[in-house]
Amino acid sequence: MAPGTTLDRSSGPYRLGVIGDPVAHSLSPALHQPALDRLGIAAVYERWHTTAAELASRVEQLREPGFLGASVTVPHKIAVKDLLDEVSPAARRAGAVNTVVNRGGELFGDNTDIYGFGVTVADSLGGRPLQLAVVLGAGGAARAVVLALEAAGAGEIMVANRDADRAAQLARELDPAPVRPARLDDEFLARELPRAGMLVNATSLGWHPGETPIALSHLDLLPAGALVADLSYRDTDLLLAAQRRGLKTVDGLPMLVHQGARAFELWTGSRAPVETMLAAARAARERT
Ligand code: NDP
Repeated sequence: MAPGTTLDRSSGPYRLGVIGDPVAHSLSPALHQPALDRLGIAAVYERWHTTAAELASRVEQLREPGFLGASVTVPHKIAVKDLLDEVSPAARRAGAVNTVVNRGGELFGDNTDIYGFGVTVADSLGGRPLQLAVVLGAGGAARAVVLALEAAGAGEIMVANRDADRAAQLARELDPAPVRPARLDDEFLARELPRAGMLVNATSLGWHPGETPIALSHLDLLPAGALVADLSYRDTDLLLAAQRRGLKTVDGLPMLVHQGARAFELWTGSRAPVETMLAAARAARERT
């Protein structure tokens, strides 16, 4: 279990929530409330729609005794880290915080996306070594993916982005991770995909049908045993095309659930009921 707070079960009800803009479609309440209920923890998990101008006061409120902490999502993961008392080394390195924990009035920030993707990688690879992973995108999620791949022992991680300067900046800032930056273009894909054990879509493209980060024909270049991962919570066109080619695939739901489970443990000091959270997240996805 992750180190965090030890909850006084005689107090409460406590409050938790997701801070973002927008938050209306966040799956976080759907996976956390059943987990809190399952463990009999008197707490309510809410949606806290928060603009950039409101962020500082929203975070300040988390110091009050009734608040256990918060999830932080787009667009506040970077800005929030400067409002906290302590930030974990991993979150500092990633440059982003997605979980805030109220430790007796002191605010601690962590990045549980790294852990979430790490579990996804471990479950999907089943101990097979990973020589080369190709990551599409160089935003906040790509940073968590790279740090998880580094921890999983990937030999080489190529980060390809539309804006090549952003990929180069990511590689500089995550040094000494074994990352090489590139411009995302056909030449790059033709050169690198034939030797990639894993392809990760960490761009924001894929949620809508017809939206893909690369032309689907490029999937033919991947070796037969390659794994294709997409951070979107559903079967994207990329994943469906990879499945048609017989490639192994994983979507973003396990990452979401495992990052949430880690956050839950930091807030409550109790082991997260991961199966409950997974089932609840799947059910919520069906409803969207
Ligand atoms: P950012 O906004 O930080 O980064 C977006 C990335 O997508 C950038 O690399 C950007 O490239 C690229 N991109 C956007 N539009 C295009 C386009 N038209 N063509 C090519 N590239 C494009 O977002 P995040 O990193 O925070 O999130 C990325 C995705 O990951 C989102 O879909 C998010 O929902 C998902 N996610 C899932 C999680 C999970 O638990 N499953 C956790 C966190 C995120 P450029 O730099 O050139 O603009």
